[in-house]
Parts: sequence; C-alpha cells; structure tokens
Amino acid sequence: MGLIRKIKASFLDDWCGQCQIKMNETFQQLYTLPVTVGHYSAHKEAEYYRRSLRPVARRADIPPGVYACRVSAYRCPDCGRRLVKVYIFLPVREQDKYEDSYLFEHGELDDFIWGR
Ligand SMILES: [Zn+2]
Repeated sequence: MGLIRKIKASFLDDWCGQCQIKMNETFQQLYTLPVTVGHYSAHKEAEYYRRSLRPVARRADIPPGVYACRVSAYRCPDCGRRLVKVYIFLPVREQDKYEDSYLFEHGELDDFIWGR
C-alpha cells in the first residue's frame, strides 16, 4: 500500500485503516448541546451525549451562543467496522468554530442514533 493511503488512514475519520478504503456515511444529524459560550467543558463519555443532545433540523435553528454537535456514523463496506463521530463546534455567523471531536468505535451511541 502506498504512503498516501497510510497517511489518509491515520488522519481521516471516515477511512478504514484496516481495509484502506473510505467508509460509507450511514447517518448524520445536527444537535444542540446545553452549553453556552464560555461554559464549555470536555466530556468523553457517550452517556453525556445520549443525555444532552437535542436534534435540530438546520444550523439556522441553533440559538446564538449555543454549542452544537454534528454526529456522523460510518460503516466500512468491507469489514463492517463502524464508528460514530461526535464533532463539537460553536456556530459563529457563517463559521463553525471547532471545539472537540470524539470517536466512538464500540457502538456506545448506537441506541441513541438508531434506536428511536
Ligand atoms: Zn474495513
């Protein structure tokens, strides 16, 4: 395998490092977090997101100064490996001000995103 593929595997969330192919995006939804500007603190545990996230239809529906979260699920078409990415940002006008992102690779959020 080539060097470029190796680099992709280590930096891209939607790239299956085992199979060296791009994974399929199977889910994406925008949410708000119950956190306003200046009050952000990092949370690693899936339980926090299950409890706190509220879905919103559009970015424009996020109130000013409130943190948002884009949750994406990916599945590798070859090995079936799945992961869920939680991307946390603060919408500031047209910009997404990046705050944190977490990967859940053991189905921690599966019931949350698929189970309702
Ligand atoms: Zn794979």
